Amino acid sequence: MLKFLKQVGDYTKEAVQAAKYIGQGLSVTFDHMHRRPVTVQYPYEKLIPSERFRGRIHFEFDKCISCEVCVRVCPINLPVVDWEFNKETKKKKLNHYSIDFGVCIFCGNCVEYCPTNCLSMTEEYELATYDRHELNYDNVALGRVPYSVVHSDPMVTPIREFAYLPKGVLSGHDLPAGARRAGKLPEEILEEMENADAK
Ligand code: SF4
Ligand code: SF4
Repeated sequence: MLKFLKQVGDYTKEAVQAAKYIGQGLSVTFDHMHRRPVTVQYPYEKLIPSERFRGRIHFEFDKCISCEVCVRVCPINLPVVDWEFNKETKKKKLNHYSIDFGVCIFCGNCVEYCPTNCLSMTEEYELATYDRHELNYDNVALGRVPYSVVHSDPMVTPIREFAYLPKGVLSGHDLPAGARRAGKLPEEILEEMENADAK
């Protein structure tokens, strides 16, 4: 009898727990029902990446000392540092450096720990290609000067109004004149950036 009561107790506990989890899941669903849908008209509009966005890695060949710290801190030992020892100078000489972005998880560890700061993360995120081997960037590709995918292209409208549209407005183009918004207009952001560059 006691065993039966214990089983009933356990079963009740599990049923209550399951109901709690279902309730938690549904609360997330209902929360989303109150949010407004947002559509960015990619590729004509692009969101301005956040300040600490982790995009394609930039590499400065001349600064690298072939210490291989980036390899050791990488969760998948990804960077390939090909060096040889120069007997005359008694220093390592870097021959090639590469990172395969088809495997990289953009965690930023290598950038964080590189002692000479020769690695940095750029805003570039459009790395798609038809051949995955093209994602294996050598030191030349990694050394390409980073460009802003959002600001450098005159055909692209930079957009930063992801969550800033007034209620009932689904597109930035439908914004009534003079409507109040929480964020800055893209042209205001661009003006600020141009002013900062001019300084
Ligand atoms: S970003 Fe992370 S995964 Fe990519 S190479 Fe650096 S440490 Fe490795
Ligand atoms: S941690 Fe920096 S300096 Fe050292 S091998 Fe990697 S990229 Fe070069």
